[in-house]
Amino acid sequence: MHEFHYVAGKLFCEGVSIESLVRKHGTPLYVYSQRTLASHFSKLDAALAPLDHLICYSVKANSNIAVLRALASLGSGFDVVSEGELRRVVAAGGPPKICAFAGVGKTEPEIEFALRRGIYSFNVESEPELERINRVAGRLKKAAPVAVRVNPNVDAGTHAKITTGTYETKFGIAFEQVEDVYARASELKNLRLRGLQMHIGSQLTGVKPFELAVRKVVPLVGMLAARYQLEFFSIGGGLGIVYQPALASGGADWWQKPQAKNILTPAKYAATLVPLLRPLKLRILIEPGRFIAGNAGILVTRVEYVKRTGRKNFVIVDAAMNDLIRPAFYDSYHEIVPLTRRNGPLITSDVVGPVCESGDYFAKNRPLPKVGEGECLALMSAGAYGSVMASNYNTRALASEVLVHGNKSAVVRQRQKLRDIWKDEKLPAWLK
Ligand SMILES: *Cc1c(COP(=O)(O)O)cnc(C)c1O
Repeated sequence: MHEFHYVAGKLFCEGVSIESLVRKHGTPLYVYSQRTLASHFSKLDAALAPLDHLICYSVKANSNIAVLRALASLGSGFDVVSEGELRRVVAAGGPPKICAFAGVGKTEPEIEFALRRGIYSFNVESEPELERINRVAGRLKKAAPVAVRVNPNVDAGTHAKITTGTYETKFGIAFEQVEDVYARASELKNLRLRGLQMHIGSQLTGVKPFELAVRKVVPLVGMLAARYQLEFFSIGGGLGIVYQPALASGGADWWQKPQAKNILTPAKYAATLVPLLRPLKLRILIEPGRFIAGNAGILVTRVEYVKRTGRKNFVIVDAAMNDLIRPAFYDSYHEIVPLTRRNGPLITSDVVGPVCESGDYFAKNRPLPKVGEGECLALMSAGAYGSVMASNYNTRALASEVLVHGNKSAVVRQRQKLRDIWKDEKLPAWLK
C-alpha cells in the first residue's frame, strides 16, 4: 500500500497536494512518500521478527541520500553494488558495518575502500573474486568478511532482464560447486567466511520461487555453517509489488481499490519462509529494493500536446525514457492517473515522451481519461529503478526529486542545470 490518494478529487502524497508541488518545482518531478518507505520497511521488519534478521535495503533501487537517511534512521542496513553506493550510504549516515557489497565486477579500489570502511560482508560471485579480495586484504593486513553467492538454478518466473538465479545468468556460483569453493576459500588466509548469499531475481509476485530456492539451499547452508562457523544466510531481495491493479477498467479511481488478493505480502512471505529458516539459527539477511521504494514514489509529468493521428491518440508528455526507462527496458506497466480525478469516458491513448526513439513511451493503448495540454499526470510506482536509471539522453536535465513527510515537503534533488550536463566536456587544442 502507499500514501498517494485523492482528497476531494485532488491527488495527494500524504498531506501534500501534488499540484502544489508542481507549482513550486515544475515537471518532470519525482515525489517520494517517507511514510510509505517507512511502513514498507516496518512491515517487513515485523514479519521477520521471529528471526534474528537484518534488512539490507538494496541501494540501487533508489539511492537518493534522503531516502537512505530515512531508512538508516529506522535501523536499516544496506546492500551496495559499487564504491559510489557505499559512499552515498556513508554520506547519508548509514553504518558500513551493516552493509553488504554485491556485484560480479568489484574492482580492486572498490574492495580496498569497502575493507577500510569495515563493511559487514562481500557477497562474492566468482573464485577469481575470492582470490582478489584475499590479496587486497593481505596487503591491508585485514581479514575480509565474505559470503559466496550461490546460484540455486531456480527460475524466478519474472522478466528475463531481472532473472538472476538460473545458470543462464552471470550471477553467483553454481549450487553444485559451492561446497568445493568454500573448501578452497577456507585456505585463503585473509578471508573470514561469514555467510552465504543468494538472490534469484526481482519483481517476484509469488512466494513459490523463494520457497523452492530456500528449500534447496537450506541444507547446504546448514552444513557450511557448521563447518565454517558461518554467521548469516542472505536470501536476497526480489519481493514484487503491484504495478497494475486487477480491475483494469472500473472508472477513474479503480487504481485505488483494494489490491488483488494474490499479491505477495510480507506476512505471506514470512509465513512460508520463516519456518524453513528458523532451524538454521543463523542471522537472516534480506535485501529488498523495489518492495521498499517502488510504490513510495511517483513521476509527475505535464501534457505538452495531444496528437490525434488516423489510428491513435498520442498524449505527449514532458517526461521521457531518460527520466524513467522501465517501460522501454522491461516492458513494464505504470499506472497513469490525472492529478484531478474525473469520471467520464476513457480514451485509448499512447502516452509518449519527446525523445527521438520509438521506445520512448510510458503506456500503449491505455484507456485514460481525456486530458488536455498543460494538465499533469502521475506515473505511479516509480520510486524504484526510476530516477536511479535516469540519463541525460537528448541533453535533458535530470528531474527534481521531492520528499514528502506528513504536511511537509522538501527538494531532495535539485533539477539539474542544463549547462551542468556538458560541464565536464572539453574541446581538444586543435579545435579551439
Ligand atoms: C537488485 C538486487 C536486490 C534488490 O532487488 P529488488 O527486486 O529491488 O528487491 C537485492 N540483492 C541483489 C544482489 C541485487 O542485485
